[in-house]
Amino acid sequence: MSGENINPYDDICSQLKICTTQLGMNPGIHEILISPKVIHTVSLPLEMDNGEIKVFTGYRVQHNDARGPYKGGIRYHHEVSMDEVKALAMAMTWKCAVINIPYGGAKGGIVCDTKELSIGEKEHLTRRYTAAISQFIGPYRDVPAPDMYTDAQTMAWIMDTYSVMQGYSVPEVVTGKPIELGGSEGRTEATGRGTAICLRECARSLNMTLKDATVVVQGFGNVGVHAAMTLSSMGCRIIGLSDSRGGIFNTEGLDPSKVLGHKIETGSVLGYPGSEELTNEETLELECDFLVPAALGHQIHEKNAGNIKARVIVEGANGPTTTEADEILSRNGVFLVPDILANSGGVMVSYLEWVQNINRQHWSLTDVNQQLESKLVTAYKNVWDMKEKMDLNMRGAALSMGVSRVANAIQQLGLFP
Ligand code: NAD
Repeated sequence: MSGENINPYDDICSQLKICTTQLGMNPGIHEILISPKVIHTVSLPLEMDNGEIKVFTGYRVQHNDARGPYKGGIRYHHEVSMDEVKALAMAMTWKCAVINIPYGGAKGGIVCDTKELSIGEKEHLTRRYTAAISQFIGPYRDVPAPDMYTDAQTMAWIMDTYSVMQGYSVPEVVTGKPIELGGSEGRTEATGRGTAICLRECARSLNMTLKDATVVVQGFGNVGVHAAMTLSSMGCRIIGLSDSRGGIFNTEGLDPSKVLGHKIETGSVLGYPGSEELTNEETLELECDFLVPAALGHQIHEKNAGNIKARVIVEGANGPTTTEADEILSRNGVFLVPDILANSGGVMVSYLEWVQNINRQHWSLTDVNQQLESKLVTAYKNVWDMKEKMDLNMRGAALSMGVSRVANAIQQLGLFP
């Protein structure tokens, strides 16, 4: 799933190679880090509403659990591939370590186009997938969460299916659930909110002001909507927004909540009154202070990186920038806050949800947001300090921090037998 034909797993492995070489890591530990611990591929037969039988493919990749149970989202998209899921699972391992929560990394996906499924078909597919992976997930084993084209409702179906199979209610098997089922206050907004907090910390560290800073957000879904709304409340001017159908632009600023209302009504950001329409490429290349990619992977690649005019990129999406693009952006002086830091707010609040579920508690939004704020400010500062100390860029620093924490855990556990 990418703007360019780049294998996402090869890309993340080459980032890991650079990192472990810089850290002077034992090649054996590098081998462990590069290899996903368990890979599941499941075949999912489904009777469609018209009586036809279709077979879908689902994946769950469990990359590493040295620091705690596997954790990671489930994505529904027609371009989901095993290599993409492997890459995303590995990124989750580093992300949980950077934000310093006791989880490993996993990811799942089903190859499907949700726009072509009825709500009933989506529910049955989700339940069949859950049944197929039920023996590999669990509150202390592997805890799924939402990702692209999955949401709180999808998590409710997973919780219900898993609970029926266990014979009792197990809310802590998934995070990102509806509040009524044990979901956490603030979880839906957490990833976008966290991206906005990282952007604010970045502005502070670069002596940029947020008041009237211009922002473009690519992808107006869960992450993009909440990033845009939080940034708008921080004083930023959102000049560009996009979704899968194209982008909109207004130099005076767009009101994200009104654009959301328009999208709910019409199905797209396009046609929002008073805005100019752009292609997705043009939206990415707008002149702005901050660009927040919050859609698919590999949107900024070798061919368009040179056209990016943003001063700073804050990666709300997972893997939106290829390694080649990183080098071009860095040469052009574009500062970048990497995904494993910038979108870690989601897994952070997922962790808080899991802790609440295990302890049969429900915390207030203020408590949740305070913990999110404090964890992210600390993580940003730690990565910034690492960057200064090791003379790396932010991606290199975040990766070094995550990878070395996981490597230390592996070494302390030792090798069985
Ligand atoms: P979502 O399904 O809620 O929204 C995705 C949005 O991207 C939709 O508005 C869609 O129209 C848009 N989109 C699709 N293709 C596009 C394109 N080519 N150009 C512009 N927009 C396009 O998904 P989400 O949960 O917001 O996830 C977005 C990204 O954030 C993904 O990379 C995901 O892995 C990452 N992420 C999500 C979470 C989370 O908690 N949801 C956490 C961490 C990272």
